Amino acid sequence: MSSLANGPGAALGPPSRPVPRPIGGSEALAYVAGAIRTISDFPKPGIQFKDITPLLADAQALGATLDLLQTRAEALRPTRIVGIESRGFVFGVPLADRMGLGFAPVRKPGKLPHRVARGEYVLEYGSGVLELHEDAVAGHEVLIVDDLLATGGTAACAGELCQRVGGRVVGYLFVIELAALGGRARLGGARDTVQALLTY
Ligand code: AMP
Repeated sequence: MSSLANGPGAALGPPSRPVPRPIGGSEALAYVAGAIRTISDFPKPGIQFKDITPLLADAQALGATLDLLQTRAEALRPTRIVGIESRGFVFGVPLADRMGLGFAPVRKPGKLPHRVARGEYVLEYGSGVLELHEDAVAGHEVLIVDDLLATGGTAACAGELCQRVGGRVVGYLFVIELAALGGRARLGGARDTVQALLTY
């Protein structure tokens, strides 16, 4: 039974939950790094998969990640946050909310119901397709958010879609960058407009 239905107990408000201890600076970054798990050979042999689910499950790590993302995002002065399906939604939506901004999703094909712009990008094997509503970012200064930058194909495609429907991309923001895969160069390479909290 919920506390709302508990008569006199309702006056006490919802049950309290532990408040995560705020952490800052390099301590925060180290804490976030420690909450990411590397899984070898997933989803196929040779891939070192960066698993963010332990980070999401740890309130302190999640809060610190959003704090760090927000600091980077504010410097880029976006007016709209765009997240890439699906881990870009996980960070992009709370980031937009913290910044008092709206959010727009870039999705896999066939998911968005209104008129879309559609872009194709090359993957290691084969190709992928992403879509964005035509009216999602027109006239906005767009910050593109995803969990991880690898080859940059996904983020570059999202950036092109935003520009095609009348947005101006002011930056790309990631929790993790796998530097050896060269994604940064594919996004134009500027150090200040392509930001990652952790580089491997
Ligand atoms: P890319 O287009 O090569 O930059 O790949 C980026 C996208 O693939 C992101 O949406 C990531 O979530 C996912 N991704 C690529 N490589 C990895 C990896 N090693 N660990 C976790 N996610 C990855």
